Amino acid sequence: MMSTTPPRQGQLYIAGRWCNARSGRVETVFNPATEAPLAEVAVGAAEDVDAAVSAAAAAQSAWGRSSGHERATCLRAIARGVEQQQEQLAQLQTANNGKPLSESQIDIGDVIATFNYYAELAEQLDARQDQPVTLPDAGFAATLRCEPCGVAALIVPWNFPMVTTAWKVAPALAAGCTVILKPSEITPLPELALAAIIDQAGLPAGVFNLVTGSGAEVGTALVAHPAVRKVSFTGSTAVGQTVMKAAADDLKRVSLELGGKSAALMFADADLELALEIVCGGIFFNAGQMCSATSRLLIERSIAEDFMARLKRRVDAIKVGDPLDPATQMGPLSNRQQYRKVQQYIQQGLAGGLRLISGGEPQGMSKGYFVAPTIFADVPFDSPLWREEIFGPVLCVNTFDSEQEAIAIANQSEYGLVATVLTTDQERASRVSAALEVGLVWVNSPQVIFPQTSWGGMKKSSIGRELGPWGLQAFQEIKHVVVATPKTQQPPE
Ligand code: NAD
Repeated sequence: MMSTTPPRQGQLYIAGRWCNARSGRVETVFNPATEAPLAEVAVGAAEDVDAAVSAAAAAQSAWGRSSGHERATCLRAIARGVEQQQEQLAQLQTANNGKPLSESQIDIGDVIATFNYYAELAEQLDARQDQPVTLPDAGFAATLRCEPCGVAALIVPWNFPMVTTAWKVAPALAAGCTVILKPSEITPLPELALAAIIDQAGLPAGVFNLVTGSGAEVGTALVAHPAVRKVSFTGSTAVGQTVMKAAADDLKRVSLELGGKSAALMFADADLELALEIVCGGIFFNAGQMCSATSRLLIERSIAEDFMARLKRRVDAIKVGDPLDPATQMGPLSNRQQYRKVQQYIQQGLAGGLRLISGGEPQGMSKGYFVAPTIFADVPFDSPLWREEIFGPVLCVNTFDSEQEAIAIANQSEYGLVATVLTTDQERASRVSAALEVGLVWVNSPQVIFPQTSWGGMKKSSIGRELGPWGLQAFQEIKHVVVATPKTQQPPE
């Protein structure tokens, strides 16, 4: 059954139309602050994935040949559509994800900026196609083309639903790829609303498709589908590894944005007030559900106890509660499973005798997945709390005596996403930034992310980079055309 009116809930978006899942099944999505049901969402399966991939494959050739200027027009229309609905979108994301409304508003601003940025890059592509390449042999001429890599499967998590989606959809469309988006089964509502905006943005049918459903059914079917040429995945490292293995069968191109266990390095000369702000933002923003959470705080020993006392006062005053209340600084975790996982880590820390500085006890709400902002000090480097991604508001603290030691401890991780450096010594900031094995270093800066700079990391945190020109290149194939030039007539001797 097809309809062109966007119901946004209970249906999939395939070939430019809203349609029911073949299974006829729906699943309830909840508000994590109240545990109340929010909506019924379609449960897609392999046959829906097949229909969406077929629609994308049918649209690929024409979309891939369209000009960057034409694609930019659609991207700007999406940005405008998001802008016109920013308040409703922020409210919807907060209802589904639980983050404070002010954080959802930041996310929506990021989404608009990302679509506009990739519109610019799409336009620049037109001038860059078939550029001559300088060769050392006059007998040949070469040109360079960037072509879309084809049908792309975009799989995203629940912590920044619209942002992680925009970081994939915008560059993929800009490059000329057709796409199938799979939102998280926990937070599909913001993406369904985005699909309704994209529906009105002038894209040809089949260029953008959305299939809701589980990772086990929709996710695996997308990654396994032979007509999918590129998989761009954001989520846990464990699932990312599964995705990469499955993609290897067809040698599909993969981009992976995975987990993290990032460090904040605080030197004795740091501005203490600024450091308090940045340390708290690095772990309690989005209730710590950030791949980039700086969940390991390393403090130079001489200032550690003083700073920890200030940190405790600050953290104990964080207002946890209704994410729609403007006074709220931290909302609930996004789902029950994550709540249980975080509680288990906290219990493990308490049972192991870790020194508790703040939090540790239940937040005391009768409903909702609320966790108190929690800090453990002197956490041993072999503790699971120090090594593993908790993905919640739990900060582990330890100390160092020298710059070299701080760098060595920070790099002692299987992850390498980001780091924060807090120091007023510029030369030290440069040395430490260069030595850290991560994709992005913030020096005396909150976790600002610009579409112009790259996103991604080293080791088990990523394969490839999103954002910037690298985000676009992730959806492109390089083609050179080399032409033998006719031999020029030699003048007679
Ligand atoms: P997850 O890996 O469980 O799920 C991510 C997405 O993959 C979901 O849409 C899920 O349905 C789908 N999926 C699950 N199994 C699949 C399979 N076998 N094949 C294909 N798709 C499958 O992650 P999550 O719990 O939703 O998100 C939290 C994780 O995401 C954290 O580890 C976090 O660090 C990471 N993350 C990373 C970044 C980054 O940019 N590096 C950004 C946000 C979140």
